[in-house]
Amino acid sequence: MEPVSTCKLFGAVRAAAAMKNTLPVIHGPRGCGYHIRYLLTARGGKRIRIASTELVEEDVVFGASDKLRRTLMNADETHNPDLMVVMSSCATSIIGEDIRRVAEESAGDLGSEVITVSAGGFESTQGEGYEEVMTALIEKFCLEGEPPREPGVNIIGEFRGGPDLRHITGSLEMMGVSVNCVLTAGCTLDDVRRIPSAHLNLSFCDVSGIGPCRLLEEKFGIPFHHHPFPMGLSNSREFYAGILRYFSIDYPLEEVYHDFMDALMDRAAELKGLRAAIVSGPTRAAALAGLLSELGMEVALVSMDMIGEYTLENLGRVPGFRSRVLVGTDVSDVEDALRDAEPDVIVGGLAETCLSEGLRMPLVDVMHGSVLTAGFQGALNVADKIRDAVSCSRG
Ligand code: SF4
Repeated sequence: MEPVSTCKLFGAVRAAAAMKNTLPVIHGPRGCGYHIRYLLTARGGKRIRIASTELVEEDVVFGASDKLRRTLMNADETHNPDLMVVMSSCATSIIGEDIRRVAEESAGDLGSEVITVSAGGFESTQGEGYEEVMTALIEKFCLEGEPPREPGVNIIGEFRGGPDLRHITGSLEMMGVSVNCVLTAGCTLDDVRRIPSAHLNLSFCDVSGIGPCRLLEEKFGIPFHHHPFPMGLSNSREFYAGILRYFSIDYPLEEVYHDFMDALMDRAAELKGLRAAIVSGPTRAAALAGLLSELGMEVALVSMDMIGEYTLENLGRVPGFRSRVLVGTDVSDVEDALRDAEPDVIVGGLAETCLSEGLRMPLVDVMHGSVLTAGFQGALNVADKIRDAVSCSRG
């Protein structure tokens, strides 16, 4: 009755909007575009462009192919994008509007490339929206490539740019591993075309990253690693160690790890014994649980909007993990579970603000695009934020 996850169109728009000079074009009523842009802007703090055909009642009864054609021409002229990703919405999926035919017929008159994704909200989940955009990009733009001279990876299924992604790509480059393409955060069409040139793919999303990685393995023979998001000390160490091992690179990872571990233990002295509830997506849940466990905190509850193939396995590997796990339950169930768990702090995102205020439990937002949470430095930042939130709530 009160879902904690959103629709396929949201995933498709988010994946497309994360690319450079790429315009998502929604063939649907104006509300779909407005709500998705509002949410993405609130979470990421960045200007996002989404075009809409802004259908009215007559359009969803009789079809509006001409409106889509005109919107594509206008958007191409006004925004001059490299790529437009045309998506259906609930209304146009129900009436069976042929967006692919319109896109193909318009392609010759457009300066941009065009792909289409059937993205009616009822068709499936946001995870499938992410995946179908990535799959469409790979199918259309990835041809055989020359292997790069230096070790190179693609990051597959990361849609958030900002400090976390910069930290991860910077750390990999420092270790001697070049990042060929991040699909899709901040990538250009040329980056997508270079995907087959990498030696290794890294799935960054349990829900949507594995499928495209398997497709790339099948098409180009590129193997892939999947690992929880590199957050927390031990988890980040394992993530980087796996890549260094793969490329046989000698790097003083252990020294860096031990320096940060000393700093983390100082934080643990203040946080040990506190109870935390994690409300997050599957990609970060296991990593957060690992970090909280390193800090000596008790994970009282993990609530995720959805899970992927490896999410529960990854959670099970967190030392001492025994907490209650909720997957895709209603908001009111999450609220009841938080009331039962009585955590000292909720570690979550913007959506948990109302639960935090209603239940008088401090919230640490680790999902916002402007916060550094990844890697060794991110672990210290998250620990500091938890300490500040708890001490602030206790006056
Ligand atoms: S569920 Fe349907 S109507 Fe609602 S935003 Fe998604 S596509 Fe639009």
